Amino acid sequence: MKITKGKCKNALVKSRIEGVDYALNPYTGCQHGCVYCYAEFMKKYTNHKEEWGEFVDVKINIIDRLREQIRKTKPGVVMVSTVTDAYQPLEEKYQLTRKCLEILTNFDFSVSIQTKSDLILRDLDVLKKIKDKEVGFTITCPDSNVQKMFEPCASTLERRFEALIKLKENGIPTFVFFGPILPFFSDNMNSIRLLFERLQKMKIKKVYLDKMNYIKGKRKKISTLLEGRSPQALRFYEGVIDHEKRYSEWLKSNLASALSEFSFEAEVLF
Ligand code: SF4
Repeated sequence: MKITKGKCKNALVKSRIEGVDYALNPYTGCQHGCVYCYAEFMKKYTNHKEEWGEFVDVKINIIDRLREQIRKTKPGVVMVSTVTDAYQPLEEKYQLTRKCLEILTNFDFSVSIQTKSDLILRDLDVLKKIKDKEVGFTITCPDSNVQKMFEPCASTLERRFEALIKLKENGIPTFVFFGPILPFFSDNMNSIRLLFERLQKMKIKKVYLDKMNYIKGKRKKISTLLEGRSPQALRFYEGVIDHEKRYSEWLKSNLASALSEFSFEAEVLF
């Protein structure tokens, strides 16, 4: 993994994501190395020859930039983060996310954090000081072996669940982002129901669900991952690529039926 220190022009970048005004990404690149990562397009904004997932640029001036920028910026919803994981292992050393959150505690911005790392628990003290905040954990598969295969360097599933519980105990509003729902591995309705039961028991109030997007673009990486390990899964992925629309409709209707049995608030994003 190549780690480089670099500078950013702005800490807060206007976002086109619905319900989000600004994106805050303290790093470019991500050590979590998820096979399906959607943020790969960010490579074109770097000079790296390394593959996506093999480099991280640390925005060492982001704290100064945020301090300057925030006074001139209209308050809104800040998403931490949109094209990296702000709590990837490097954050333990650089603490850029923590220091940015500390600045945000003094201003009237809402903060929405989404991560796959329980390193966020280190910042409970700062999170408590932010007036309007929420923290979500991404879960892509209820099976921890599959999770490890697709997200080799992120926190384990159990650690994410434990972190959600801890956040809730500390009064931090939480949500779960169930996505991308991995074809073949995560779309079995019995295991989805078991996951929903667990979320309901944990009193998770809000769950977002999304299918796997850009699946064609991820064909090479997914094929490399599955070849030899699971020819059956590989055939299934190829089938989904050929019949993406039909697959999405099937998934959506099955999710709707499973969700009707549970009382948490759910939003299907496709
Ligand atoms: S955690 Fe997010 S940004 Fe990081 S590799 Fe995984 S999908 Fe990409």
